[in-house]
Parts: sequence; C-alpha cells; structure tokens
Amino acid sequence: MKTAVASCTSNSAVTTDSIKDLLKQVAYPGFSRDIVSFGLVKNIEIDDGTVTVHISVQTNDPTVPEQIFNNCHAVLDPLPEVKHARIELDVQAPAAQSGESGEAGVKNTIPGVKNIIAIASGKGGVGKSTVSSNLAAALSKQGHKVGLCDCDLYGPSVAHMFGSHERPLATDDNQIIPIETHGIKLMSMGFLLEDASPVIVRGPLATRYTQQFLQNVEWGELDYLILDLPPGTGDIQLTIVQTIALTGAVIVTTPQEVALIDARKAISMFDKVNVPILGLVENMAWFECDHGTRYPIFGDGGGAEEAEKLKIPLLGQIPLDIPTRTQADAGKPIALSDSDTSPVIEKYQEIASRIVNSVGT
Ligand code: ADP
Repeated sequence: MKTAVASCTSNSAVTTDSIKDLLKQVAYPGFSRDIVSFGLVKNIEIDDGTVTVHISVQTNDPTVPEQIFNNCHAVLDPLPEVKHARIELDVQAPAAQSGESGEAGVKNTIPGVKNIIAIASGKGGVGKSTVSSNLAAALSKQGHKVGLCDCDLYGPSVAHMFGSHERPLATDDNQIIPIETHGIKLMSMGFLLEDASPVIVRGPLATRYTQQFLQNVEWGELDYLILDLPPGTGDIQLTIVQTIALTGAVIVTTPQEVALIDARKAISMFDKVNVPILGLVENMAWFECDHGTRYPIFGDGGGAEEAEKLKIPLLGQIPLDIPTRTQADAGKPIALSDSDTSPVIEKYQEIASRIVNSVGT
C-alpha cells in the first residue's frame, strides 16, 4: 500500500538532518519511541522546497500508518521553508516471527515481553548488578512476571547473586531456555561460561555475540525484562540500545563526582538514541551505624543533586548496607527476603513501584 500527500507554504534551506531531527517528535503509535529511532524513516529527499519522506512500516493495523502520516504532516507542514511535504508510506504485513511487537514493525522487540528496562552505569563497582538483581526481586515480589538478563560479557555476576550455577538448556530450534530461580527467569553469560574462564571476545565479535545472545533466549511472557548492561558506554552498550527496543533506562551511580562524570555519559548515550531515562538510583548513598548516625562515605547527595540538575526522576537512594552485600554473596538478593527491619528492602519496593507507575505493566 502506498500513500502520498502534499501540503504547503514557502521556501528556503532545510536539510535532511534537520528534517530527520524534527521527525523524532513523531512517536510510533502506542510507543514512547519515535519513528526515527525505530528505523522506519528510510529516506528523505529535498527538492526545491518539496520534502519527500519515505517511511516503511510493518503492521496489520490501518490506523498506524494513518497516525504516522498525520503526525508527520503536523510536524513538517508548519515549516515556512517547506513548500510541499510528501509522506510516502510503504506498509507491509508484519513478519510472522515478530510476535506482539511485530505490530510495531520493529525487529528487535522481544515477543511476549512487555517492558524491557536497561540498568546502566558509567563506572563498574557502583552496584549496578546489585540494583538490577534487587529490582528484579522487588518487581517479582509485587506479583509481576520478571526476567533478568546479565549482558556483561566480561564480568557477569547475576548468576552468582542468585546462587544459580545450573546450565540452561536449549529448545529444538536452538533457543536458550532461561533458568528460573525464586520465580525470576535468569539468563547470564555466567551460565554459559566455565567458572573463572576469561572472556576475550572484543570489538565486532563481542557485538555479534551480544546480539545473538539477546535474540536467542526464549523468555516467554514477561511483564518486565531487566537488562543488566556492562558498565560504560562502549560498543556492547551501544549495540544493545540500538538493537533492542528498550522501554527505558535506569542509571545507577554512587554519589561522588568521579562516578557522576561517567553516569552523565551513560545518560547522554540513551538520550542520543531516544531511550527514555526512567530515573537515577543513588547507591551507597550513606552508611548508618548502629547508633543511627549517617556517614556519607562517598559524598552527600551527589546523585540526588545530579538527578535534579538533569531533570530526571530520583528513583531512590540506597545506603551502604552489610546484609545487601552478604545476601548477594550468599546467592539471594536482599529484596527477596521478608524481613521488615531492613530499610533497603523497602527502598527497593519504592523504586519498583516508581518504575511500574512510570512505564505501566
Ligand atoms: P557493578 O555491577 O556496578 O560492578 P556490583 O553490583 O557487582 O557492582 O557491586 C559491587 C560490590 O558492591 C558487590 O560486592 C556488592 O555486593 C556490593 N554492593 C553493591 N551495593 C551495595 C550496597 N548498597 N551496600 C553494600 N554493598 C553493596
């Protein structure tokens, strides 16, 4: 099916880049992501004030191309530089494999998974895997169907934090079946590696391996899939944010400036690919002694201030807490326990609720 229409006004210099930037305001119907970052805008031509935008979309829902068409016009028509805006839509039926998300025409959503949330940090050691594991645990305790995927090729720790050393099995068509522990589906490079074997894949190989890894796991039906990204903003992180349609990202940092510098880089990476930042978690925010005195070991409120400065939600502040570390080492994240004396469990419940409120189920 092809549709083409024109509209009006005067004439002068617009560029394909400026048009592309403007089209980032057009969200894919029903999604927070825009049609540019979803890769639907295939070509933009400008000829003497006539702008032609070629869009390719896979859907069976006739209202989807109609909305994209109208919303593109709403953005381009008011431009004084554009004499005519032509929106050409190539509409195809979704490929059979695309599952629920095939309606979006996006290859890299994961069938059956409603929300994919990346947990990222600029630096290693700030507690990103700890936050990922406990957030997964808190969401699961709230009754959601949760999966947790450790995407860190070089230092996977989620398997250890859940005390799981089982090897996952594969289906007949070579899909890996996640391990299920404490009601949470887990997948981790750690499951596929011999203990302590160094992973020495780098560059394009690491990228390909990560893509394959993400696309070959049979998650089934999930409300939330938590992706524990490797620290930093390198090739693997970029591959993930560009190939998987993320619902949003959570940034974990400790309060001191050296961690914040790198956290800003992570935030800017997500911004560039239009992945919404759901908020920031300040980990190791203070240590409280038995007498109730708080010591801001890594600085006072750096994460909270940064969230305010960047106008992103502060999802929570987690103290340095000995049981958080011992429980992780014992293979049962603290947020899975029922203790009502741990302030940390409550904090993770609050963070989970904020995320649910922000993205829905
Ligand atoms: P990252 O994934 O950022 O490299 P980890 O989650 O592996 O960091 O955490 C590093 C170490 O710090 C682990 O031993 C973990 O148990 C510990 N840790 C993380 N957060 C806390 C906390 N709030 N209190 C105490 N120990 C923590």
